[in-house]
Amino acid sequence: MSEFLIKPKIQFGANALDFLSGLTARRAFVVTDKAMVKFGFANKVTDKLMQRGIEFQVYDDVASDPDISAIVSGMKIMDAHYPDLVIALGGGSVIDAAKAVMYSLWHTRKESNRTKPQFIAIPTTSGTGSEVTSFSVIKSRSEKLVLVDEFMLPDVAILDPELVKSVPPAITADTGMDVLCHALEAYVSKAASDFSDAMAEKAVKLVFSHLIDCHHQGDNLMAREKMHNASCIAGMAFTNASLGITHSLAHALGGVFHVPHGRANALLMTHVVAFNANLHGDCNSEAAKRYAYLAQSLGLPASTVREGVTSLIVAINVLKDEMGMPKSIRDTGVSEADFYARLMEMVGQALRDSCTPTNPRDVNTHQLETLYRQAFAGV
Ligand code: NAD
Repeated sequence: MSEFLIKPKIQFGANALDFLSGLTARRAFVVTDKAMVKFGFANKVTDKLMQRGIEFQVYDDVASDPDISAIVSGMKIMDAHYPDLVIALGGGSVIDAAKAVMYSLWHTRKESNRTKPQFIAIPTTSGTGSEVTSFSVIKSRSEKLVLVDEFMLPDVAILDPELVKSVPPAITADTGMDVLCHALEAYVSKAASDFSDAMAEKAVKLVFSHLIDCHHQGDNLMAREKMHNASCIAGMAFTNASLGITHSLAHALGGVFHVPHGRANALLMTHVVAFNANLHGDCNSEAAKRYAYLAQSLGLPASTVREGVTSLIVAINVLKDEMGMPKSIRDTGVSEADFYARLMEMVGQALRDSCTPTNPRDVNTHQLETLYRQAFAGV
């Protein structure tokens, strides 16, 4: 027996944020970051709470790639506030922090029979899909730990394209490649199903059709809406099908060298596609056929499986080039000496990452090390 779960109600499109105007609650806890305060987005949310007579407390101390100290601080404030509504407003880092704060409070306290607050996630990047996933990624020292629990699934996800117009081009590129990586990894995952396939295929098409417009014309609301939807749809695919070793390698690279998550995926993705497809061998695996099918559905040359896999890799590289993304880990400013000094530590982290078991091709230490070496050099 298999299961496919889609939890949150999704409010999407222009003015989706107005959903907040119909809320009833006593006390809200708003988790966000300083950028959301600076852009006035936090006020947009708290104004609506005030209009509804809902008391609120704002916790805006979440940085990118949140660590355990941010979660502990959030727990203290939330515990004192006793909310019946939690709103996460921000990128994946903020949404993950809110999830981890709620999860930790409810699982460590004795009175865990206290009613769980309503949980609303409002993503302001089009990348992680965290608004619909049961995942939360939290850093402990230099390792990114992936918590997975359905408890963390939001009740409502609000996808308002107005909130992503301000995302600068470099972050648009990073987060957009994260969406592509979620869809590709879910599509070839050992746990893929007809349901996750449908979502992954749609998300891949939306990324190839709209990401460049979001990058080149940040205020193109139609393109922003499509990428916001793509991010959420890819999230639905991977929260069910899980991911693969691009993410395992990216988590370790991000944890050790602070490479932004989507950029880390972009640097590793094509090397992993070639590895999973066994492109330089028989190129006849189920994953290879799936990559080729995706290439064909994108209108790329795919008269053989090998040609399809190659076309997909070329198309991904063209997308990255058009957005001026780095071609190698070296290009991101990580020195050769630093990289090789931490290489085996990252390999160890990637091997035990919770995304590794669902990668379509089983992988060993040596193969992970080779993938890192290829991505460092960009060959
Ligand atoms: P992020 O949340 O770290 O945000 C990146 C930067 O963009 C921050 O400086 C933020 O302030 C800024 N920003 C956010 N929204 C903005 C806006 N509208 N305008 C201008 N600037 C804005 O980046 P992210 O890629 O969304 O999230 C990355 C984190 O999510 C990583 O820790 C990653 O491991 C994790 N992640 C989680 C899941 C999941 O399912 N929970 C999936 C993938 C990744």
